[in-house]
Amino acid sequence: MTADRPAPQPARLLIVGPQGSGKGTQGVRIADALGIVAISTGDVFRAAVHAGSDLGAQVKSVIEAGDLVSDELTFAVVRDRLQQPDAAEGFLLDGFPRNLAQAGMLDDYLAERGEPLTAVIELGVPRAVSIARIAERAREQGRTDDTEEVIANRLSIYERETAPILQVYSDHGLLAVIDGVGSLDAVTDRIMSALRARGVAPRA
Ligand code: AMP
Repeated sequence: MTADRPAPQPARLLIVGPQGSGKGTQGVRIADALGIVAISTGDVFRAAVHAGSDLGAQVKSVIEAGDLVSDELTFAVVRDRLQQPDAAEGFLLDGFPRNLAQAGMLDDYLAERGEPLTAVIELGVPRAVSIARIAERAREQGRTDDTEEVIANRLSIYERETAPILQVYSDHGLLAVIDGVGSLDAVTDRIMSALRARGVAPRA
């Protein structure tokens, strides 16, 4: 007898976790494995700052302080990106939504499209692990937005503003809580099996 398999689901995913949880790296791995696009709002903003675009000029000082860009501006960036053809077959958002207001905007927009989220991955790591990983990345990449003060600011914003969205997704039965401590491959495997259990798997 074969085990019951969940019906195949489109991959419209979020990955949520504190800075240093590995969500950026895991997000790209999962998106590659599923053949969907990974969209990181942090990457979009950093690229805009680097390119010196209008968007970059608007967000530079906010990002450098580790504060949040306005909900309206961030949502406009995400909505534009989700309208590109490469997001039609599925997407994984990393770093958005960051608070309840953004979660509401996203849910309304996806409901309008008739394409609700299929799963939300929460990547959990203890605070000490986050801090150690961020400090290491800052050294390796020379990121100017990763000073000790800015890291502490971003972690407390996460706890205060972002963590509450997880309860909402949990209430909707969408949340997969994943232990983010371990090797890159071990964590990717955990995420892929949690997604498979929800019917989200690479397209044949
Ligand atoms: P991240 O790489 O996700 O840590 O994002 C880097 C920075 O970009 C954050 O500290 C914020 O300043 C900004 N940012 C990224 N995503 C968002 C978002 N959803 N809402 C507001 N600001 C954001």
